[in-house]
Amino acid sequence: MAIRKLERAIILTTGLIIASSLNAQKVKKGYPLKDRLNSYKQITLTTDTSELSDAERKCIVHLIKAAEHADNIFWMQSYMSKDEALKGIKDPDLKQFIKINYGPWDRLNNDEPFVASVGAKTKGVNFYPDGFDPSQVMEDMKFRVFDPYTVVYYFDPKDAEKYQKMGQMPPPRERFPTLNGKEIEIESYSMVYQKELIPLTEALRAASEAIQEEDPKFAEYLIQRIDALFTNDYIISDISWLNLNSHLDIIIGPIENYEDKLTGSKTSFEAYVLVRDREWGAKLEKYVALLPELQAGLPVEEKYKPSLGPNVSETETVEPTIDENGNVIEEAVGEISEIIEIEGFPPVERPEKPMSQLAVFDAIYYAGDCNSGSKTIAVNLPNHEVIQEYFGTRRSQLKNTMKAKFDEIVVPISEKVIHPSQRKKINFNAFFSNVMFHEVAHGLGIKNLIDNQDQTVREALGATYSAIEECKADVLGLYMVTKLIDMKELDGDLEDFYVTFVASVYRSVRFGASSAHGKANMITFNTLMNSGCLESTNKGMKVDVAKMRSAIESLAAELLILQGDGNVDGVNTMLSGRGKIGDSLKTQIDGLNAANIPVDIVFDQGIRTLGLEKYAEEAADSKGERK
Ligand SMILES: [Zn+2]
Repeated sequence: MAIRKLERAIILTTGLIIASSLNAQKVKKGYPLKDRLNSYKQITLTTDTSELSDAERKCIVHLIKAAEHADNIFWMQSYMSKDEALKGIKDPDLKQFIKINYGPWDRLNNDEPFVASVGAKTKGVNFYPDGFDPSQVMEDMKFRVFDPYTVVYYFDPKDAEKYQKMGQMPPPRERFPTLNGKEIEIESYSMVYQKELIPLTEALRAASEAIQEEDPKFAEYLIQRIDALFTNDYIISDISWLNLNSHLDIIIGPIENYEDKLTGSKTSFEAYVLVRDREWGAKLEKYVALLPELQAGLPVEEKYKPSLGPNVSETETVEPTIDENGNVIEEAVGEISEIIEIEGFPPVERPEKPMSQLAVFDAIYYAGDCNSGSKTIAVNLPNHEVIQEYFGTRRSQLKNTMKAKFDEIVVPISEKVIHPSQRKKINFNAFFSNVMFHEVAHGLGIKNLIDNQDQTVREALGATYSAIEECKADVLGLYMVTKLIDMKELDGDLEDFYVTFVASVYRSVRFGASSAHGKANMITFNTLMNSGCLESTNKGMKVDVAKMRSAIESLAAELLILQGDGNVDGVNTMLSGRGKIGDSLKTQIDGLNAANIPVDIVFDQGIRTLGLEKYAEEAADSKGERK
């Protein structure tokens, strides 16, 4: 062992000399790269493969291939192409850390650059040109410039020449003037990422063919997703996806807006390849039926909690036809259209009521945005507000990833930070439920402003939206747990859920407060501290359940009102006052870091990990034959 290490060290040194002469990337002086790398615990992503049919195994191979291309696109969005980014890096640790972070900025350490000569990460990454000022976009052009599926560039008249010299057509772009006189252009994702999208969609098509006979609905969804990727219109495939109940699943495309810290509007590519866990899924279904009741019980005035479902009162009512004697000839019937008519939304049939689904999966592959920095353990999609309003959302719990984070991170943390008398309160059932109700809570509350139904809360709050929405989900999630226990619909002791929540806040805020989730956690934690729910003792934190119960209720109301009013000033005050890590918490976090508790997990994942090499070879062979 020692010898091998020495050999590697020598090779490494030589490599670095050559590399430096090529101006390659080196670790920033003094950056604790080794420690940072060791703070990730590697987990094997798998599932019970004996449950998979032959067709499913074949399908998975193609789904993973598609996911790999989505991964490449995320590299391009947040930094540069993966090959370019990793070229010439000899230091295996540095290479690995750049891979984990999809670039030279430490995502779980406030995006600190860890490569020498690399500056701060720009807020608009590659969605916007350097120095771009969103306030200079003209009002009536915002909906185009901030479109979630376009990249923005400065217009450069020399570009046309450049393409002419290369004998190429310039990419199709739309040009806009701005308030400061600079011209900008937008280009759609389908064009910008075409090189990756072609093989990505080929893989989806092969996956669709593989599963066609066994699961035609899933096969059809995959084809619709291909259309979506080429037309930048995801609505139809999102709606189909909501109606799936397939054993296999894939979430793929430009989805979340966390990476755009400049405007919060551009979406990042990602993919999850999933295998449904029907047994656990059944446990959750009963909560869906209770959602309207929970929404109705939210601790705010009526106007901040519209009834869940299509708002029938908005449709015009027809006066009844009355004869000369005053008798009603025709009953007045509310004109409920069968087709949803909203500008920019395709004409689709309106379902009877939105279906909120809760589902449990094992994740077998993560790619792109969801695989960068902190790994997602639950997803609530689609994000489109109109789809959410009329069709609902699916909240997917990724159980294998969740269990790994709980065992490897939450439990060891609780042993350091929670008072011994409450440590036995920490359990996976409570952790699983808290995360689940966080996801459910995204569907509660309000989507459009109270005083301006034409504007969504997301539009009104802009870049601050994500943090407030995540905080709302945390807090309303706890509120729901509380209510369901009161209603005897949920088993367990409220104290378990609260104490487990507090322990898991430590897990999240160790990322720093740069992410939306991190900021959200800080708002909740600081509110709990300020209202005396948490008592800091020298043996750890003690949670006062009764106090926390009322603090949760008032914070829930505060957040719902901020959202409903689209109160940007209020949100900024909240973020600057409570969205940061305080000194005493910082000290505790430093203690955790010194105790070598993993900060997050990374995955050993892919075709080989799942033991599906045979199917990958077959797929490669048949592709060769076709050519
Ligand atoms: Zn969330």
